[in-house]
Amino acid sequence: MTVRALDLSAFRDRPVAVLGLGRSGLAAATALAAAGARVLAWDDTASARAAALHRLNMLVDLADYDLAGVGMLVLSPGIPHTHPCHHPAVDKARAAGAEIVCEVDLLARAEPQATFVAITGTNGKSTTTALLGHLLDGGGRPVAVGGNLGPPATTMPAFGPDGIYVLELSSYQLELLPTPVFRAAVLLNVTPDHLDRHGGIAGYIAAKRRVFAGQGSGDTAIIGVDDEPCRAIHADLVSAGRQRIVPVSLTGRVDGGLWLDGTALVDGRDGAARAVIDLARVPTLPGRHNAQNAAAAYAAATALGLAPAVAAARLASFPGLAHRQELVANSGGVRFVNDSKATNAGATAHAMSAWRDIYWIAGGRAKEGGIAALAEFFPAIRHAFLIGEAADAFAATLAGRTTSTRAGDLATAVALAADMAWQAGGGTVLLSPACASFDQFRDFEARGEAFRAAASHAIDGRRAQGRAAS
Ligand code: ADP
Repeated sequence: MTVRALDLSAFRDRPVAVLGLGRSGLAAATALAAAGARVLAWDDTASARAAALHRLNMLVDLADYDLAGVGMLVLSPGIPHTHPCHHPAVDKARAAGAEIVCEVDLLARAEPQATFVAITGTNGKSTTTALLGHLLDGGGRPVAVGGNLGPPATTMPAFGPDGIYVLELSSYQLELLPTPVFRAAVLLNVTPDHLDRHGGIAGYIAAKRRVFAGQGSGDTAIIGVDDEPCRAIHADLVSAGRQRIVPVSLTGRVDGGLWLDGTALVDGRDGAARAVIDLARVPTLPGRHNAQNAAAAYAAATALGLAPAVAAARLASFPGLAHRQELVANSGGVRFVNDSKATNAGATAHAMSAWRDIYWIAGGRAKEGGIAALAEFFPAIRHAFLIGEAADAFAATLAGRTTSTRAGDLATAVALAADMAWQAGGGTVLLSPACASFDQFRDFEARGEAFRAAASHAIDGRRAQGRAAS
């Protein structure tokens, strides 16, 4: 099949401002310029401007430029436009009457006939998005997966009316997406995160619930109902009664929704309770939290017309996602689990409840609240190995509840944790840092790759010792 690029010719000869020239901003600016738009692009970082120069010939400091007549500002979701402060270029664009959108909105404008599906929530977005893409791939319609995860939206292929775009959307992106109405929209969960950017929990919740905006009778809202904010949104949706609503719960039966019974996923959408799959059979979706992701993806795929039997079979063949409780090695009774993506305590809590005999590697740049919320798991930790900026604070939180070592860097932590686990006869070396990676790594992916390399190094070292001893 030949891949067609998105048609952005509606922007030909129109001035469009692009602020933020990271991967997705630069892709949007380049696609708009190729379509003949008059692109005015800027990034406050000199290195990003330098990288953009060979692709764009119009770099202007938008905060200092007359934006009268510029109809649209494509804003990188990383740049604050409400809280905690406004970027001056955003204020100027707003004053000039420009629409402020993110690059995903360009995709929705270029493909008005296609089907759009969105996944949001505090945790589980990437897993659910990738899983839903995998389920829908079994259905014969062209499917592309993107948004926060994967390729920039403006580089996604043009499919026309048959196409399905499965989009992982952050709260920042949802605030900048006026165009698409989602045929199926998933809100997995809401726990406090990024509150500085949204001016508090109410702003964060308001951004998240935008995923359901504009939905009507042919559309489906899928919503996890195991936390208070989501239960409140669910109640509002039910009372407004605009779309089909599918609640998902891990804690008990929910009328008209999907729930977990032991390890079995149960579909009760049409009144009868039907077992979909025993998730204990799907090693790439470990832990209860993944049952929420599986239920949501299954509900969305089938809401789009995928046959339930096909969806269930595709669930079982999900290859899994790197850096999310990824089992990277299993040697001498010790499992090495890479959960580098767990950048807050809420995400780490799920890993802690999914694994046993944990030699925990944590730390990095701490989030608000640190690891205090994980206290109930501390007795289950055999030993903690602390790295990065948060090491001292985490050691103080753990003091008297579990033993810990300040290991400094990740390679040292893995070597120490692996040795201790092997000496104990087995266990799980779990990297689930509950922190951002930026103090020691480029991003969570680089941190996860470093863990994988260190695990393999530790295993090689043990094998070499075994050979030397025999
Ligand atoms: P996101 O894209 O929202 O950051 P991911 O799918 O990348 O979410 O998963 C990040 C981490 O969050 C995982 O490593 C896991 O520990 C945890 N997690 C995954 N799914 C859920 C869920 N449904 N609820 C809570 N935590 C989850």
